[in-house]
Amino acid sequence: MKKIGITTTVPVEILLAAGYQPVDLNNVFITDPSPERLVNIAERAGFPLNCCSWIKGIYGVCMDYGIDTVLCVTTGDCSNTIMLMEVLKLKGLKVIPFAYSDRPNTQRMQYALEALAETLGTTLDAANRVRNELKPCRRLALKLDQLTWKDGLVSGFENHLWLVSTSDFNQDYHEYYQQLQELLAACRRRQPYLPDSLRLAYIGVPSVYAQDLYHYLENNGARVVFNEIQRQFAMPKPGDSLAEQYSNYTYPYSIYERLKDITTGLKRRQVDGVIHYVQAFCHRGIGDIIFRDALKLPVLTLEGNDDFFLTHHIKTRIEAFLDMLEHSRRSLKYSQQALV
Ligand code: SF4
Repeated sequence: MKKIGITTTVPVEILLAAGYQPVDLNNVFITDPSPERLVNIAERAGFPLNCCSWIKGIYGVCMDYGIDTVLCVTTGDCSNTIMLMEVLKLKGLKVIPFAYSDRPNTQRMQYALEALAETLGTTLDAANRVRNELKPCRRLALKLDQLTWKDGLVSGFENHLWLVSTSDFNQDYHEYYQQLQELLAACRRRQPYLPDSLRLAYIGVPSVYAQDLYHYLENNGARVVFNEIQRQFAMPKPGDSLAEQYSNYTYPYSIYERLKDITTGLKRRQVDGVIHYVQAFCHRGIGDIIFRDALKLPVLTLEGNDDFFLTHHIKTRIEAFLDMLEHSRRSLKYSQQALV
């Protein structure tokens, strides 16, 4: 199958139906042995220092991995993608724009999907057949999510990794299914995490720290039981059609759509505190004001740029946050015992 780069989660069912193999450029960037090298490629080409590292990384991947066709999301992801698209065109790549509608609406989504299918030379009937083929993978990913927060058998990083990978199913959905099935079988044989670990939610775009963050949290007595956007990539509310599936997917729309999903998740998963990750120079960072106002739990905002590991400064902030959560949990317990 011919590879097509994608800049975020898109209706992969249409791409696969059209005979393309989607490649999530973000995942290639962050799993590269040297993501700094890919950022450097972009900076040498003229991308400014104050441009988000993910955008520069995507550009670096396109140049370094020989990607020649890219589907760029122009509405519902990142305003920087529009100019990235223009630069990729200049470099001779074929770029295909795709726009989510400005609000979640099944009819509008249906039009957007039909237009994309037509551009790629396929039909929504064919894409629906692919949707049915992908359903077992999506169900398995959501099962992994349940084994994370409900059964304590899956780590926060494993949860992140397998959910974030549903954007392109690691470029082979048959293998994704096979490998995930094996992992889940192994997880079911594990001893569950100790119930007294602090339970955290991770909201915001995936971080540049990848596993470093999750491991550091676990080594300090806390674990992530809710990876907000990564879970959305797995399409937890598939609805009855592709149009419904991508209207129920919260990421491209207003932050208030995300908030509904987040507040439900926090309550259901009995979360103690929230980590909001923001990327330096990203417009989404402004949403921190809204999250801090709306969420009734302590929030730690972490901003990452192009350090692909946790600095001492960030580690200290995480430790202080976890100490504060532990302290309030203990105080609450003592006051409840005093009431009895
Ligand atoms: S982190 Fe923000 S600025 Fe960077 S690619 Fe994502 S949406 Fe765009």
